[in-house]
Amino acid sequence: MLKIQAISAFEDNYIWFIQAPNSQATLIVDPGDATPVLAALKQQNLIPVAILITHGCHDHVDGINTLLAHYDIPVYGPNNEFIPHLTHPLIEKEEVTITGFPLITVMDIPGHTKGHIGFLIGGGLFCGDALFAAGCGRLHSGPAKVLFESLQKISQLPENTKIYCAHEYTEANLKFAATIDPNNKDIQQRIIETGLLRHKGLPSLPSTLDLELKTNPFLRCDNATVRQATEQYTNQTLATSEQVFTSLRLWKDMF
Ligand SMILES: [Zn+2]
Repeated sequence: MLKIQAISAFEDNYIWFIQAPNSQATLIVDPGDATPVLAALKQQNLIPVAILITHGCHDHVDGINTLLAHYDIPVYGPNNEFIPHLTHPLIEKEEVTITGFPLITVMDIPGHTKGHIGFLIGGGLFCGDALFAAGCGRLHSGPAKVLFESLQKISQLPENTKIYCAHEYTEANLKFAATIDPNNKDIQQRIIETGLLRHKGLPSLPSTLDLELKTNPFLRCDNATVRQATEQYTNQTLATSEQVFTSLRLWKDMF
């Protein structure tokens, strides 16, 4: 079993550590800040063996330089975004083998940024800022359609896939979800459970795809309630799920 832990950084970022079974070997996902990473590595006697980068936002890559000053390790990331010190540019469906770890499969999930990728490993998806618990990333480049299609692609994964996103946005996202879908019992239940975790200072992550499909409005654009609420908000008829998604994303930006 992989041991996976969230290292907190900045206001609400999570830098994920993926530790190999019966080993101190650790993968570091999206180190936006080296300081908490170095502290956690030292405290737990972990050995970093590679850095995995989902996309080029500063809060995901700014720690790379300092980490490489301490450890001579490879940096895996998307082939079409600027990632400092990238040694292994990756493309869709590429498989990455790192000793001691299960096979890692690369998934293109653009939309938040144009080259955004996810890493599938051991039944988990490390999805950066594409999908969040009960929400999704902002559109930094390109049309909503691109992110919509990426989220549709994620929806096709096995429902028990664990979702490791890069920010603790769950409570705010659930408020928005409950506004759209006030009678959804799964959302109500999730608000309670998330509140308990956050009250204890624990991450609300990982999520599961199953839970996202029940509670995340951005994965539920084909749902009649979600569509009707969005139509009411925009005062327009929204004929397709993609149109619902586009309006929902704009609505969330104003929320
Ligand atoms: Zn980002």
